[in-house]
Amino acid sequence: MKDFNPATAVQNLLQFGEFGDVNPSVTDSATFTFMEGETMEKTFQGETEGCFLYSRHWNPSNFYLAQGLAAMENTEAAWVTASGMAAITCTMLQICSQGDHIVSSRTTYGGTYAFLSNYIGKFGIEVTFVDTNNLEEVKAAMKPNTKMVYVETMSNPLLLIADLRKLADIAHANGAKLVCDNTFTPMLITPVKFGVDIVVYSMTKFINGKNDCVAGAICASQEFINSLIDVNSGTAMLLGPALDPKLSSAILKNLHTLHIRMEKHSKNALYLAERFKEIGLKFNYPGVKEHPSYELFNTMLNPGFGYGGMIAIDMGKADIANELMRRMQLEGVGYLAVSLGYFKTLFSNSGKSTSSEVPEDVQKEMGMSEGLIRFSVGLDMDIERTFQMIKKCLVDMKLV
Ligand code: PLP
Repeated sequence: MKDFNPATAVQNLLQFGEFGDVNPSVTDSATFTFMEGETMEKTFQGETEGCFLYSRHWNPSNFYLAQGLAAMENTEAAWVTASGMAAITCTMLQICSQGDHIVSSRTTYGGTYAFLSNYIGKFGIEVTFVDTNNLEEVKAAMKPNTKMVYVETMSNPLLLIADLRKLADIAHANGAKLVCDNTFTPMLITPVKFGVDIVVYSMTKFINGKNDCVAGAICASQEFINSLIDVNSGTAMLLGPALDPKLSSAILKNLHTLHIRMEKHSKNALYLAERFKEIGLKFNYPGVKEHPSYELFNTMLNPGFGYGGMIAIDMGKADIANELMRRMQLEGVGYLAVSLGYFKTLFSNSGKSTSSEVPEDVQKEMGMSEGLIRFSVGLDMDIERTFQMIKKCLVDMKLV
């Protein structure tokens, strides 16, 4: 496990299509035939392996992608969903029932925060938000009915790294599961190495990398995946957020270039971080030694993929951030848009967009400035040129 390399694991997976096709053909069927009624009955009871029943449950194209993801994450199994939010919400509702309790990081993607703070209470599930970088606070929040500790490996948008080893110990000592959202750090971090039980993804981001679809994934034990798609009680089967098999087929092809893309995203982001330092910008990037998570991150990284493609600069005030973003888009740095993991650079003001669900006082408590611009650095061939475009905007605004 120590020497596990996710890129090699994906490469080692040979999937032969029906006709020897190297890209397995898309199975565009909602339903599947059986030769005998008895086999169908057994399949419904979960007693047959390798039989496809109905595409809300499994579809061969979804299965191929899930195999690739399980290989990358070193988990026994995976299941693919129609969005990252579907992966997150199905996992939470599968683990927790009425009367249960969740301890969650307060620095999560805004949609996750909104689900936990405004929605899951409908089911009688209680949530305590904590600073998961303060392990004493996590320990103190655990209760006998805590079923899950929830974190993002790299938190959005402050880019703090969760100490997965220690969080797993705390969760497990309490009989709870540690679930982590690894959306910002595929390939870089293999969460199960550190004791994480379930890994969730928004594949909309780096994994697909093209911003042409919304998709998600849950990587876990075979037992957990089977429970999710149980025809009588599985949250995924009953709420039904299955991924369109045509998308699975497209995403699988992109999974095979993920390691190269992550390396380049990281290289470009580190370059920008170093140049930002030179011109005295205030920024967060976990690949520089000034970042509070730098040392911890280094103990967790798979070698060869860098420190990730996300970087945030703090412009102090929202109006300054807005003006800078307007100018950067006109200059050609990239797009003023939410989301991440795209081949072009994307930037947005987190507090006013993807974290706007987090109340302003909580944003302040988290240390999130109203002028924070989060960049998802693209695959730019000439990143010095990109830096010069950013610098021009800063100079024109007399900010440096
Ligand atoms: N997790 C993280 C870290 C995200 O940034 C997002 C979306 O921005 C999600 C989950 C939700 O994913 P999706 O938009 O695919 O539902």
